[in-house]
Amino acid sequence: MADRSSALLNTATPVVGHSCRLCGKATLQELESFRALPRVTSDCKPWSAGGRLAVCTSCGATQKLADAAWLAEIAAIYDSYTIYHQSQGAEQPIFSGQGAPLPRSVQLADYLTQQLGRRDRLSLLDFGCGTGAALATFAQQYPDWALYGSELSVKSLPALRKLPGFVDLFTCPPEKIPARFDLITLIHSLEHVLEPIGTLAALAGKLEEAGHLFVQVPDCSSTPYDLLIADHLLHFSSDTLRFAGERAGCTTIALSDAVLPKELNWIGRAGRNTPAPLCPPDPRLALARARRQLRWLYALAGAAEKVAVNSRCFGIFGSSTSGTWLYGLVPEQTQFFVDEDPGRIGRQHMGVPIVSAEAIPDGADVFVPLLPKLAASVATRLRRRGVRFFVPPQIDSEISQHEAALS
Ligand SMILES: [Zn+2]
Repeated sequence: MADRSSALLNTATPVVGHSCRLCGKATLQELESFRALPRVTSDCKPWSAGGRLAVCTSCGATQKLADAAWLAEIAAIYDSYTIYHQSQGAEQPIFSGQGAPLPRSVQLADYLTQQLGRRDRLSLLDFGCGTGAALATFAQQYPDWALYGSELSVKSLPALRKLPGFVDLFTCPPEKIPARFDLITLIHSLEHVLEPIGTLAALAGKLEEAGHLFVQVPDCSSTPYDLLIADHLLHFSSDTLRFAGERAGCTTIALSDAVLPKELNWIGRAGRNTPAPLCPPDPRLALARARRQLRWLYALAGAAEKVAVNSRCFGIFGSSTSGTWLYGLVPEQTQFFVDEDPGRIGRQHMGVPIVSAEAIPDGADVFVPLLPKLAASVATRLRRRGVRFFVPPQIDSEISQHEAALS
């Protein structure tokens, strides 16, 4: 799997029969080397290779090809979806480095209140509300708000009904939702949506006069792992997220990559202020980035496989996306996960124990599959006699410089 020639890693083939989900043009180029990479699901389970990744040479939107095989795969993934199963459903906390970690939706609620100014008795629709993690936070912090959810099924309805302020759950398409709202949130849902522009436009049409749309998605420019998530159809960067919002007929009010690590937050309002034509993002940046990220993932896989097969006691740091993906490459060799989240330590992930850093066995080899800088800081912090830590190779600097020259 790891022996990919650089020629194949650079191959991009024009795609027939699919058009770009953001700009609508038939200008997609498939990055063929992605097909051989094992993947991982957004609820952290290993998933086999076989996905198809493309970049639009008109607008730079990086996206999976939603062919019949992909649609069948996501149906299977959603059918057995168990979010945060590593900690029995508790949200993954955000470690900011200062003070105690906060659940991600508490940080998000703080940001939104700050940006919009707190308003009593707001009506909020969370589109793609899942099991209601964000709605629960809003209910707790703003008991006066009227809360609505939207999902594909009514599976979560009994849990949602217990939330103070909860009014209704919609399972109809967005344009059929029979109400208007002051705030509509899409928290980690737009990257799964088949018709992102149509969905945003339909939701913008459900806003009250001065209402706002809020979108939070993973930032594909900050981590190569986003590409590996099998059920993420779209891989947004700041410029393609803004482009999507504006193509849906909205005005951008705020766009930030600094609220939560590896996340983008966009706030918009229905209607454009200026009639200026939309300027699509530079696609060369996106193509260079996707190629660089695929090269790094192959290099990382090769390095980790080498350590694992030569180790008598092999462990992986982290039990979320990157750790689970790495486990999928070397399931036989993996004897433990290391995690610093107290909600996970002592449990199992993929039938393998999750241990604290202090409990790593003597003589163990631990691979830290984080971005090189972060991995190095973890390895330095946890350094201990008798335990060897391994970090991924550097990300290809030649391409990084090319990107810098383009930007
Ligand atoms: Zn496009």
